[in-house]
Amino acid sequence: MNIAIAGAGLVGRVLALNLLKKGYNITLYDSDTAYGEEAAGITAAGMLAVFAELESAESIIFDIGQRSIELWPSLLEQLGIMESFQQKGSIITAHPQDANELEHFIETLQSKVAEASKIKRLNQAEIMELEPDLAQHTKGFYLPHEGQVDAQVFMKTSSDYLLAHPHVTWHQNTTVDKVEEGMLYFGNQSERYDWVFDARGLGANVQMENLRGVRGEVFWLETSEVKITRPTRMLHPRYKIYIVPRPNNRYIIGATEIESEDKSPMSVRSSLELLSAVYSVHSGFGEARIVNMVTNCRPTLKDNLPKIENSDKLTRINGLYRHGYLMAPAIVEQALNEGIFK
Ligand SMILES: Cc1cc2nc3c(=O)[nH]c(=O)nc-3n(C[C@H](O)[C@H](O)[C@H](O)COP(=O)(O)OP(=O)(O)OC[C@H]3O[C@@H](n4cnc5c(N)ncnc54)[C@H](O)[C@@H]3O)c2cc1C
Repeated sequence: MNIAIAGAGLVGRVLALNLLKKGYNITLYDSDTAYGEEAAGITAAGMLAVFAELESAESIIFDIGQRSIELWPSLLEQLGIMESFQQKGSIITAHPQDANELEHFIETLQSKVAEASKIKRLNQAEIMELEPDLAQHTKGFYLPHEGQVDAQVFMKTSSDYLLAHPHVTWHQNTTVDKVEEGMLYFGNQSERYDWVFDARGLGANVQMENLRGVRGEVFWLETSEVKITRPTRMLHPRYKIYIVPRPNNRYIIGATEIESEDKSPMSVRSSLELLSAVYSVHSGFGEARIVNMVTNCRPTLKDNLPKIENSDKLTRINGLYRHGYLMAPAIVEQALNEGIFK
């Protein structure tokens, strides 16, 4: 079978990796280059926050997320980058004056999934044992199952792998205008395939109703004065931030969540909020160097949940919102189990 995938972002790549394992020929189409920065998948922090995201998400993402955490290692093994997967748990904390945020957080999680009752409450000594650099925090939670994928390494290495693969053709800088059952249209051309996948993320909004972008801004900071080894969230009544450690003393600080499809550079307001919040978590960030500031939009449907639409010779996958890394492997598995790819 010859298969086309419109959109070589996160979902498109996870699809391609799975379909190659099954022996299919794949043709990828993307409006960007293979190493470009259009895909939300390249901006993402890559957190596998199966519990923490329940604060604002529906409980269904818990099961999907758990399954994805099981599936990520084999995908990363296929690419030879197992070290890009970390599952050392994550830390949730808050300033003493915001302690009720912590209580609200745990109550919300416990009302959504029974497993949240096992989440460990941390006192100052326990926080210090896990993350000595967070020792000034007196209360928190440890979410043991959580982890992260180094999203930027995944995107770069999957580009290398797919471009070099003998069963993959990659049409870069090719905007797909329309996807139909077994057909794909771009420019003045159309191509027929045995099956077509639409994984254009926000770019599918011309064909998918109620698909919107939710703007997210992140900083990349570099400092040798902070040693945080696990994804860490600080709860705050107005702005919540996460700190995601990356190799070479780098940290992703994110992310804003703004109902807008504006991908323009970060605003002053967002930068003030993110940077003052991260400085309040650890003063060592005061001397950090800002190495990057990135903005992108999360492809989101009305109910903020992912959607798989299967028809004859066509599958659409979209709406992964702020949970693409948390959900893509399991959502792709589900999509392939529903069709003829079983
Ligand atoms: C700031 C930020 C932080 C995030 N952090 C996390 C996180 O920590 N954990 C997590 O699980 N998720 C996170 N996400 C969410 C995650 O990045 C998205 O859910 C995921 O990338 C969506 O995958 P996708 O393949 O549907 O879309 P994308 O990754 O955006 O890929 C879509 C692809 O389609 C291409 N395309 C678009 N239009 C066309 C067209 N007409 N023709 C051809 N190609 C086209 C684009 O160039 C792109 O390559 C974050 C997102 C943002 C913005």
